[in-house]
Amino acid sequence: MSVKSCLPRLLASKALLTFCLLGLMPSSPVQAEFNLPSLGDTSAGIMSREQEYQLGRAWLGMLRGAVATKDDPLLKDYVERHVYQLAETSQLVDRRLAFVVVDSPQLNAFAAPGGIVGINGGLFLHAHTEGEFASVMAHELAHLSQRHFSRNLEQQQRMRVPLMTAMLASIVIAAAGGGDAGFAALASTQAAAIQEQRRFSRQNEQEADRIGIQNLYQAGYDPRAMPDMFERLARNSRFDRTPPEFLLTHPVTQSRISDSRNRAEQLARNNGRRDSQEYQMLRARVQLRYETNPGVAIRRFQAQLDEHEGEHAPARYGLTLAKMRASQFDEAEQALQPLLAQHGDVLIVRLAEVELLRLQGRSSAALAIVDQLLENRPDNYPLMQSKIDLLLHEQRYAEAERLSDRLASQRSDDPDFWYMAAEIRGLAENITGLHMARAEYFMLAGDLDQADEQLKLAHRRVSDNFVMRSRVEARQEHLARLREVLKSF
Ligand SMILES: [Zn+2]
Repeated sequence: MSVKSCLPRLLASKALLTFCLLGLMPSSPVQAEFNLPSLGDTSAGIMSREQEYQLGRAWLGMLRGAVATKDDPLLKDYVERHVYQLAETSQLVDRRLAFVVVDSPQLNAFAAPGGIVGINGGLFLHAHTEGEFASVMAHELAHLSQRHFSRNLEQQQRMRVPLMTAMLASIVIAAAGGGDAGFAALASTQAAAIQEQRRFSRQNEQEADRIGIQNLYQAGYDPRAMPDMFERLARNSRFDRTPPEFLLTHPVTQSRISDSRNRAEQLARNNGRRDSQEYQMLRARVQLRYETNPGVAIRRFQAQLDEHEGEHAPARYGLTLAKMRASQFDEAEQALQPLLAQHGDVLIVRLAEVELLRLQGRSSAALAIVDQLLENRPDNYPLMQSKIDLLLHEQRYAEAERLSDRLASQRSDDPDFWYMAAEIRGLAENITGLHMARAEYFMLAGDLDQADEQLKLAHRRVSDNFVMRSRVEARQEHLARLREVLKSF
């Protein structure tokens, strides 16, 4: 869907209903029976938490339909783990979080009601340390814990839901990188109103900084990472004619820098975490992703490695990946060996080894390593995904299907997962399962009609199987109930 077409569609009230419906899915398709949450007291000045949750989740489907997201298990796993970790020491009450990693090198991060935390791949490029990355995440979590979205709307008594939707739509446009072009598609007055609404007040931003830095400290990070990040952004954007989205919504002023610097100095202690090797390796991974020419990346990682006389694990990791991308497998192996010798216990390093073996056509050797690693971490998502990929590569579809069914319990909110599950079930000739997986995918990716169609196809195939038929019908009933609930919006 083009960015230009999605916003007007969203703003039309009929479309809004369709789109809101999507967010009401229960978190797991196996929990067919669930109590629909109350929509809360709409007469209250503030939107209820449950309304916020439902609207946010509905919006998430639309966002996913409008932007390219990154399907990199290592990256997704890292973001999810670290944000949950920060949430533990945050003021967030409702910790049902959902994540989106947008595939864009531009700097951006955002939070939306319903516990949605979004980042662009570009955040890894601009945040030079894990502490800086965490400071942006802590700031966004503070917007959620202080419920800034609905507080903003409190002042706008009328049209709360449409206004919120318009604010959310503007985030989609920004996240899709459509920026100005997207806005131009709208009447200029409307665009201006939305743009205005998207920005939290200065007071909200100050509060998010203050609470975020406290959270950063309580999570064990050196709080000085926040002013460091602000200073870098201010320096980098000085000559920027079109600053990245994040800076439009979060202008970095001198007073903002000094406020956070003062607070950080008061909190700072000597043992606060600043960075991690894992973060730097993921950063190398993202850098490579946005490098158009692997030759350039090879030279850059090599230079970085030379600078440290060969002793720089993230540069060596980046070099290995870059050589793999350039199909120089022997050289990739040479680059990887010292890394394996020193960091053979690091999962991300071992998965590079696995990937290299696969590219060299040695998938049974790769599988043996993954199996061994799974012994100690049987539920690790990147490892399970890696094993599924290898089984598919070896055309062992039935085993791949069994493993992906196990993964379903922890990735049921992840459209990438359902997309893959549908493929696997198709290859394993489980056609009913294929339609069920597609239905889940379409529900999460914002296309309810298609989801409905897939459930009908599944139903036709299971008419004489009581258990399966009940399962499909439970999902269909669920959809029907959701349509009813939506009428109250
Ligand atoms: Zn903010």
